[in-house]
Amino acid sequence: MSNGIKVIKDKCVGCGLCVKSCPYGAIELIDKKAVINEKCTLCGVCVDACRKFGAIVITRNTFRGQDIAAYSGICVYAEHRQGKLSSIVPEIIGAARELKKDLSKPICAILVGKDVSAMAREIISYGVDEVLMIDNPKIGDFAEDIQAQLVADILTEKKPEIFLGGGTIIGRSLLPKVAAKLLTGLTADCTELAIDPDEKILHQTRPAFGGNIMATILCRNHRPQMATVRHKVMKPADIVEGYEGKVTDMSHIAIPESQIEVLEFVEEQTETVNIADADFIVSGGRGLKDPKNFKLIEDLAKALGGAVGASRAAVDADWIPYSHQVGQTGKTVNPNIYVACGISGAIQHLAGMKSSDIIIAINSDPEAPIFDVAHYGIVGDLFEVVPEMIKQIKGA
Ligand SMILES: Cc1cc2nc3c(=O)[nH]c(=O)nc-3n(C[C@H](O)[C@H](O)[C@H](O)COP(=O)(O)OP(=O)(O)OC[C@H]3O[C@@H](n4cnc5c(N)ncnc54)[C@H](O)[C@@H]3O)c2cc1C
Repeated sequence: MSNGIKVIKDKCVGCGLCVKSCPYGAIELIDKKAVINEKCTLCGVCVDACRKFGAIVITRNTFRGQDIAAYSGICVYAEHRQGKLSSIVPEIIGAARELKKDLSKPICAILVGKDVSAMAREIISYGVDEVLMIDNPKIGDFAEDIQAQLVADILTEKKPEIFLGGGTIIGRSLLPKVAAKLLTGLTADCTELAIDPDEKILHQTRPAFGGNIMATILCRNHRPQMATVRHKVMKPADIVEGYEGKVTDMSHIAIPESQIEVLEFVEEQTETVNIADADFIVSGGRGLKDPKNFKLIEDLAKALGGAVGASRAAVDADWIPYSHQVGQTGKTVNPNIYVACGISGAIQHLAGMKSSDIIIAINSDPEAPIFDVAHYGIVGDLFEVVPEMIKQIKGA
């Protein structure tokens, strides 16, 4: 037995079909019998190839059977930082309220941390029925190991069928840990969530393959169905004046010791707005030619009251910190206006910005792919066009 996969020696005829089928080179024939090595990923292709002989079996004993019917309702993760609810929280609750319309089940929120009680009423005011809270000084801001365990424990006790978090730095790090503890699936960075009208399960839709297709993912056999929601995609929940929800103290759950010690918290110094929250973004790419030319991008961003973004080429060249990178391996943004200056429009860049309301591209190459997604294209030298734009905006 290796990695939960087993060759039944008596059934193996040494035909080699499994060897040919394995995309990872994880099977070899030794003494005319298939032997599986540590490269195996349990993908199961060899099991299909050996269907005639049935000599290879996978035992997925990492997953356990669950009583799915015992799970009910929608739960959201109330992310917060430095005593404030994150701006994604009303968006997740907005998504949960849409789901509630089709599921007719209550919405609860998990709020864990230090000095968090004051946020519970604010969460309820967005239309949440119950806040499941652990307020304890032992839960530090970055004690993710503790937080993941507590969230998993609360979910195990309360059994919601759906659990949603933000596709933020915190959500992207915390929710996978929770999913792993609960042995359930997680769809990251969803742009659409819906309830299947017949099965009543969650349709979790997100861009795949660099944004070329939309994939809808279902989690049929495990609970909760977990998803993170992309920032600025879901409509934030409105405040419901006088909404009546309750706060349930979950402090009977034991708090484990954290293995994480935070030595220092250093806030990034930037004179412009964080790109994830910005309504206007001006991004610079390799066309800027020199790091000092980012000043031009900053000036335009400031004139618009917006944030500075960048392509990966600019980040990789150390012209600007990674926190400004837009794209598949950077941030996904959805501003009202996105201005791309000297950016070619590689598919990985487009994956992070093409849902912006208005895209303005400035590029000297009329064939640059950025013009395929731009609503307004300016073919020209950015060193002439951008100063002119700043002049026009300031003069307006
Ligand atoms: C797995 C993977 C993940 C990736 N993730 C990301 C990601 O998250 N984000 C990202 O951005 N990229 C990402 N990339 C890299 C991506 O493929 C491109 O290499 C990158 O986006 C190119 O950056 P750029 O457009 O700034 O540079 P280039 O492609 O070199 O484009 C520069 C552009 O500037 C124009 N230009 C030059 N001079 C001027 C001028 N004076 N005035 C106007 N225009 C001018 C040129 O015509 C050209 O179109 C990823 C790649 C891989 C393989």
